[in-house]
Amino acid sequence: MLRRFSFLFLVSWYIFAVVFAQAAPTPWLGSPEGLQPALPLGWPPVNAEGAHVQVVAREYRFDNGPFLSGIVAKEAEILAGPIEAIVSSAEGEQKLVGAPAQIKSTSPAKVTLHANAAAGPVAIDSASTVELDGMIRTDFTLASPTGATIDNFTLRIPLRAQYAKYLYHYPGQWGSVRNAGALPAQGWSHAFKPFVWLGDETRGLGWFAESDQNWTPLDNPQAITITRHGNIVMLELHVIAAPRSLRQPLRFTFGFQATPVKAPTRDVWDYRICHEGNYGIETTLYRPPARVMYPAAGNIDLRQGTVEMWIRPTFDPNLPVPHGDRGLLNQELFSLQLPHNYTIGYYWNVDDHGMRLYIQHRSQYPVLIGERSFWRKGDAHHVAFTWGKELCLYVDGKPAVRVPYQGPLAPALDKGNIMLGGTHAQFIIEELRISSVQRTSFPPTRQFARDKYTLLLDHFNQVNTKVRTIQPIKGRPGRLSAHVAAVDNGQSLQLSRPGPDVTYLDRLAELGVRTIVFHEQWSDIQNFPDFKKHGQQLQSLVTACHERGMKLLLYFGYEMSNTAPTYKDFADECLVAPRTGGYTRKPDQTAYPVCYRSHWQDFLAQSIAQMMDIYDIDGVYLDGTANPGACTNGRHGCGYESINGDRRPTYPIFAVRRLMQRIYNIVTTRKPDGLVNVHQSTVMTIPTLAFATSYWDGEQLGSVSRVMGALESLPLDSFRTEFMGRQWGIPAELLCYGQPYTYPQALAISLPHDVLVRGTGWDNLELESSLWRAMDSFGRQEAKWQPYWANADLVQATPASIKVSLYNRGAKGVMLVVSNLGNSAVEAAVTLNTKALGLPNKTMATDVLSGKSLFWTGNKLHIQMEPLTFRLVLVK
Ligand SMILES: [Zn+2]
Repeated sequence: MLRRFSFLFLVSWYIFAVVFAQAAPTPWLGSPEGLQPALPLGWPPVNAEGAHVQVVAREYRFDNGPFLSGIVAKEAEILAGPIEAIVSSAEGEQKLVGAPAQIKSTSPAKVTLHANAAAGPVAIDSASTVELDGMIRTDFTLASPTGATIDNFTLRIPLRAQYAKYLYHYPGQWGSVRNAGALPAQGWSHAFKPFVWLGDETRGLGWFAESDQNWTPLDNPQAITITRHGNIVMLELHVIAAPRSLRQPLRFTFGFQATPVKAPTRDVWDYRICHEGNYGIETTLYRPPARVMYPAAGNIDLRQGTVEMWIRPTFDPNLPVPHGDRGLLNQELFSLQLPHNYTIGYYWNVDDHGMRLYIQHRSQYPVLIGERSFWRKGDAHHVAFTWGKELCLYVDGKPAVRVPYQGPLAPALDKGNIMLGGTHAQFIIEELRISSVQRTSFPPTRQFARDKYTLLLDHFNQVNTKVRTIQPIKGRPGRLSAHVAAVDNGQSLQLSRPGPDVTYLDRLAELGVRTIVFHEQWSDIQNFPDFKKHGQQLQSLVTACHERGMKLLLYFGYEMSNTAPTYKDFADECLVAPRTGGYTRKPDQTAYPVCYRSHWQDFLAQSIAQMMDIYDIDGVYLDGTANPGACTNGRHGCGYESINGDRRPTYPIFAVRRLMQRIYNIVTTRKPDGLVNVHQSTVMTIPTLAFATSYWDGEQLGSVSRVMGALESLPLDSFRTEFMGRQWGIPAELLCYGQPYTYPQALAISLPHDVLVRGTGWDNLELESSLWRAMDSFGRQEAKWQPYWANADLVQATPASIKVSLYNRGAKGVMLVVSNLGNSAVEAAVTLNTKALGLPNKTMATDVLSGKSLFWTGNKLHIQMEPLTFRLVLVK
């Protein structure tokens, strides 16, 4: 009751807001949404004492002035010495040193410190803020009271080499992961980049700056260098590398952030996100395609013949025909898919209320015949069509339609297929016979006999639904898709999912989905809550999701559409400059990237809050929203005029970070377990991602062709750097749209890293669902994860292409993820140190997904593995 009351209250509030909005056209401008609380839910407060600051999983020390003298991340000191600020002037090279930083103010969410340092004629004055996620913002001036000219100003960040194995830098490049991977043996150098991170699989350190303003010279190809010195990896920022007068102080803002930024208690295995959101999925019946495919060659003669079947409709053939999309009510039974764009189709047509036959060549239909029948659901009927001297349709043994169509159905069979079923095929087929003669009489027996004219005869009694094959009595064998079921005690085939009808939403619930993302099409205007038209549908969908214990996330993104009411007044101020992109979608519109340093930040915050308040959604899916893309739009403070006279970009890291924190607050103050799921491919800028509950990465490779091996396009060191989430502190999910690897291949790469691939498409979702279930019944939550790069004392695997990661529950068993990441099939030999793992003496090894026992000697496993495949093996 209370909920109903608050909903009505919110609706009236909204009506009021809309009415008010007409008087004041921009009620969102200056919105305070998300600015409170200062300490976001779930974060421990910042702790400071002296020059030392503690945040979750890390401690920072500022013993020498403005810059860090020590960083402990995940119990390890990662600096090999203090960060040093070095200047060169007429007085030679000197280190700027200062007293320990002094705390100026503290609050649960942040600490500010003041520090200065000096050397010869040069001084630094700095104010640093350390925020709850360990983001340090240091604003400092480099000045000289005497107006000295300096030749050099460098920040030297010495890292212990064992914690600087991997390098990530932003921006990256679409189509590659070259900006993420093992730190090259020879080190690395680059012109200014706004974000650089070095780390290992557990921790790291990021440095960032929004622009290269005051860096000298501009475009110095060696502005950022990383060099190796024994056990030290030295990251150097060559801020001034050419003579520069300090008559005017130079201002800089640098950011530092050690990782991981938090210790998540839930990850993508808990969130179970899918992307199947749409209006009406709570009422539309789930009718997955179900097909049987036989090769056409040898199974049919195009010159003359007969196709006949005994069938039972499992739909109601007498339902009234609705207006609108009636095609969805047709029921596909039989088709011949032939080369040169020929299709012969034989199906139940909703307008005829009976069987129809057509020959289609490209967009032409030289034959289209049908006849009404008066069938009832579940009754058995003999249906047939014949060709040669004429075309005939038979129903229950009697001729129904005849047309004078002579000769072959199509010119060639080649590699064509015979298909039973399709997307909508609510039939049980008892018998199929294809003959090389035009039959004219059909005995009423329910089982067909084989004679000298029989090319294909199937009683459907030799069906293997596990390996999805079918062996006819006569003719070449076929293959089954998922959802084809053997029924009638294995004597018939059901061309649809057996059991009672379920809706799409129910099916998602059955699969174990917990979070549904509704992509951009939830609103007719891109990244804009134009919900007037769909309000009721959205309300119904949210309610239905909640009734099933599922969350619904709505899409918000990075653009403003030219159909948005705000476009006319706010495009110039809010869009990224120079204007980029131009994404088009239906209904007709073009959307351009916005910069969240602009007022559009308030719009987005207000919109998300509004959608949560009115529709009770459970969080957001953010497409690129966390990406601090380059922008020169001075109307909202981006970009700057360089001394060369050109306008150079800002990467608005702090503004995007602020928006992300606001969104996190908006979501979690309303729903403590709400989600902020970020899609950020190529962009691992941790200060803008820290408030995400998980990220979804990998679209940058979606346009890479399969010619390149999957691991060549996504090498393991790159995966460990950008796609694993662990050392960043944010749960990760891999994106795969079928290129450059298939969904199961992508899993072979991701699973050894404890990372799931979001199941897009039903087949993929079903595979992902089986992984969720396998890990649930094993008890992944209670297991210790021991990845392939750190488990040599527990498991050895050959050949080298085999990677094995373990989920260890000791005496309760071990789950192995075994992946063959090579390009050829191998016999994998996996030897477990059963004693060290704490396994009992007598154990069995089972392939969890197939349920089959594996060859297991008690400590050694042998598995035949195709390239880029994985197995989930349970040893207990
Ligand atoms: Zn901007």
